[in-house]
Order: sequence, then C-alpha cells, then structure tokens
Amino acid sequence: MRYSQVILSCVICGNDFSVFAYRSTEAKFCGYNCYGEFRKTIPAPMKGKPNLKLRGENHPNWNTNREQVIRRTRKEINTLEYKAWRKEVFERHDYRCFDCGEKGGILQADHIYPWAKFPRLRYMPENGQLLCLKCHREKTHRYSLAARL
Ligand SMILES: [Zn+2]
Ligand SMILES: [Zn+2]
Repeated sequence: MRYSQVILSCVICGNDFSVFAYRSTEAKFCGYNCYGEFRKTIPAPMKGKPNLKLRGENHPNWNTNREQVIRRTRKEINTLEYKAWRKEVFERHDYRCFDCGEKGGILQADHIYPWAKFPRLRYMPENGQLLCLKCHREKTHRYSLAARL
C-alpha cells in the first residue's frame, strides 16, 4: 500500500519538505538539524518540587492572566486548544517564572516562537514558557534568537 505525500514548509528554515499525508499535522521540521535548532532555543522546564498547595484553583493567580487577555483577541484565547496549551505550560513549568524562579506571582504563559509568526508552533507545549510580569517585560531582547528567525 502506498501513502500519498504532502509538501510542507519547515517552521525553522522555511524549506519545503515532503511527508506522508497522515503525518502532515504533526510534522513541522524538514529534518533533525532544524528540530535540533528548535530544541536548542527552547529552554528546559525548571525542575523543582511541585508545591501541591499552589496547584489548580488554589493557585492565587489561576485564571487571572489579564494582560494576556488584553493582548490577544477573545476568540483566540477562548479556544479549548489554547486553554489546554496554557494549562500544559503552567504544569510543565511547575507554576514558576522561568527567569527568576518565583512562584506565586502573576505568571504569564508566553510563546517562545512568536504566536503570529509561527502559527504551527502555537499549541506545542515545548514552545511555551512562564514568566512573571517583571521578567516578561525584559524578555524581548533576551530571546532575540527566536525573534530573529
Ligand atoms: Zn528546516
Ligand atoms: Zn520572573
């Protein structure tokens, strides 16, 4: 049995590559080199003991991500997909700011590869990081690698 192939463009280098059609939604990179580039840019989640008291609805800032609500249109952040992504980013990073490690401040789930420029990376948990408000403001130049792409 032969599978049909589709042509996609790599989210990192922009080159076309072909994959079997059934993989077209998950395939994002032309090969291991570009996948490696992606992994390099993505910081590993901070390891730490989960503070169970501050999970879920007990967390003081659960659901109060107001700045982000303002920045994105309601339609975009009300999708189940976005909510699931955000939840996964919070859990992956243990509700801590990636930069200063602070827990319990106002945290924002942020895209490392920008939302607007990399639509196919929007819902990858690896593409999310948590930043407190203070660190979020300083972020722009710090992650210039991702911004240059
Ligand atoms: Zn590539
Ligand atoms: Zn911080």
